Amino acid sequence: MGFRADLHCHTTCSDGSLSPEEIVALAADLGLQGLSITDHDTIAAYSQAKPIAEKLGVELLSGIELTTNHDGETVHVLGYAFSLDHPSIINICKNHIERRHARAEAILERLKNHGLPIKKESLKRYDTIIGRPHIAMSMVEAGYVKTIEEAFKLYLGDGKPCYVQGNAITTEETIDIIHEANGFAIIAHPHLIKNQQMILRLLELDFDGIEAYYAKFLPNKEEQWVKIGQRKGWLITGGSDFHGAAKPAIPLGASWVGPEIFDTLKTRYLSNQSL
Ligand code: AMP
Ligand code: ZN
Ligand code: FE
Ligand code: FE
Repeated sequence: MGFRADLHCHTTCSDGSLSPEEIVALAADLGLQGLSITDHDTIAAYSQAKPIAEKLGVELLSGIELTTNHDGETVHVLGYAFSLDHPSIINICKNHIERRHARAEAILERLKNHGLPIKKESLKRYDTIIGRPHIAMSMVEAGYVKTIEEAFKLYLGDGKPCYVQGNAITTEETIDIIHEANGFAIIAHPHLIKNQQMILRLLELDFDGIEAYYAKFLPNKEEQWVKIGQRKGWLITGGSDFHGAAKPAIPLGASWVGPEIFDTLKTRYLSNQSL
């Protein structure tokens, strides 16, 4: 098989179940030549991922999946190729860690008011960022729900009684921050955005690309996003959104990009190293 690079996956630094080392080793085992780790709101995986990627010959590209707020709704924005040392990136990650701590406390308060108390100290299974999946795991452990899925369906999912959005910065500001760090800003998984008006509004923003190849979506579900990307002259990216056991149906490498798009991103990444 030719060159394949998976540009979207999560490690234990956010809500995935494999460590940075394990995910790079899995990529090598699967014959993926390129990888970008896109944890939610953190680049913490890179210090561990870089040495093993070098050792195993997997080309690693900087990446992140940033949580943003667009007109009150949550929108995920992928950033690629920025310098991992850039102060704008380090600063936005720090802000998100703080936002997520405050938001987790607000969610736990709501759960307590629903008769489902969870102690913040019991949320052991997070490394760098706290997300709803960590709270869902503790709810399963406490016996409040049978599965993580059920925790989202009844309590934690968007708009459910214990959901708290938190005050993430806007989509526009986030795109500007990625650009400050000389990275590319990409609309993540448009397939999952149900609000058509939201899609139209996002397409007017200063994005550089769109994630047209995603998870296990079939070509007929990807085509419209490829066409939009082509019309705009944008980068057309793709990746699995692998989370490991946290989302067992989606394997690493389920979606990927070929050498051309990867080289465009990698060339920018390497040029940012010498700044
Ligand atoms: P957060 O970033 O804390 O708002 O959590 C969002 C993450 O929760 C997503 O990226 C998914 O990994 C996970 N998630 C969202 N909905 C569900 C669901 N219904 N079941 C399991 N995990 C989910
Ligand atoms: Zn996630
Ligand atoms: Fe996402
Ligand atoms: Fe993701």
